[in-house]
Amino acid sequence: MKGLYLGLDFGTSGARSCLIDATGAIAHQTHITFSGEDALPKLWQTTLIALLAEIPRNWCPEIRAIALNGTSATVLLCDAQGTPITEPLLYNDPRAKGEVEAVGELLPHCPVVHSATSSLAKLLWWQKQPYFAQAAYFLHQADWLAFLLHGKLGISDYHNALKLGYDVVNLAYPPVLSSSRWGALLPRIVAPGSSVGLILGKWCDRFSFSPDCQICAGTTDSIAAFLASGATGPGEAVTSLGSTLVLKLLSSQKVDQAASGVYSHRLGSLWLTGGASNTGGAVLAHFFSPEELSRLSEQINPHQTSPLSYYPLLTKGDRFPRNDPNLSPQLSPRPDDPVAFLHGLLESMARLEAEGYQRLQELGATPLTQVYTAGGGAKNPQWTTIRQRYLCVPVQSSPQTEAAYGTAQLAYQNMARDNLTPK
Ligand code: ADP
Repeated sequence: MKGLYLGLDFGTSGARSCLIDATGAIAHQTHITFSGEDALPKLWQTTLIALLAEIPRNWCPEIRAIALNGTSATVLLCDAQGTPITEPLLYNDPRAKGEVEAVGELLPHCPVVHSATSSLAKLLWWQKQPYFAQAAYFLHQADWLAFLLHGKLGISDYHNALKLGYDVVNLAYPPVLSSSRWGALLPRIVAPGSSVGLILGKWCDRFSFSPDCQICAGTTDSIAAFLASGATGPGEAVTSLGSTLVLKLLSSQKVDQAASGVYSHRLGSLWLTGGASNTGGAVLAHFFSPEELSRLSEQINPHQTSPLSYYPLLTKGDRFPRNDPNLSPQLSPRPDDPVAFLHGLLESMARLEAEGYQRLQELGATPLTQVYTAGGGAKNPQWTTIRQRYLCVPVQSSPQTEAAYGTAQLAYQNMARDNLTPK
């Protein structure tokens, strides 16, 4: 087999690899759950090596490019050798809540960083800690893991760097960041998927990689999952029907609305915009077992409109498509017939999904043309038919949903873009 591309996905509980060929066919994939008592960076490093070790050895020389994704806003503070000087701060670590005001003062027009969990808030928190004087590099999880493969420090991509306050329109740090006293710690930002360097010789010796294998700049887990979906053009979207309802729409226009949590990532010459609602599969799971969800859904006539109109939530408050922290869950009237109740829930969520895409378009996003579906709800054909009625565009399951697959595609696209001659 000639010409393979490797994507590595580091999540919260484990990591996956996905090896594809130039046609997008999967040659090999594997998953490893993090386990052991080691500190997190050591655990990530051991898992990275274990993922590489699981690739059939005779395929390693055929791998032309490798890319990694990590969880957005999981960050590390490293010394000049790239050794973490303290524990990483994970994507949801709230300890920088005292820095939110300072972040707002630094970048008042960049709402995506106005949160305790943003990378910038975490950096401001770290700069108050006594060990900060030893810091030489502030890196994201994906940057650090890529460093282990190519040996270059201080490089990140503009997907990971959005929550650090990097200006993705002008492709530069705002001067208030670059000229700050910790500005020298900020990584240099390159395009996701672009070549950063060749794989280190020690990995070639150990796993028989080709010395020409490129290590590419990475991305975040959710963008990688979007890339996996098959959506490529403006107007194409991915709805994730997991515990929550997450919409992502590829748009020619950049769209932002801070109050609703709507913001845009740069994706080449396009923008990946979207929003997330607290409605979704967690509400379904509260009322029905997985077996009931399948069995009762089969009894729904998806072509018939349910008269029930809910705002399905487990606790009060939502941001998108309706931004109201006091919004009460609307789950009544509840009919005695569980099929009618489930029909009402699925139909109400379909209405909210359509309302969400409508909201993005009102804000200026490219009109919706096609929706791919990911997450647990994607396997429900009755729901798909109901959603199609409201969305009025073709709805189909994503052929691929794994972030590792999307990251492998990123590595492949890099090689196609750079037109590097295969060896
Ligand atoms: P996450 O990764 O966000 O936890 P998943 O993508 O694994 O979620 O999806 C799990 C959700 O899918 C559950 O909340 C469950 O309610 C929903 N789900 C599972 N089976 C079905 C089904 N047949 N129809 C609709 N929703 C389903």
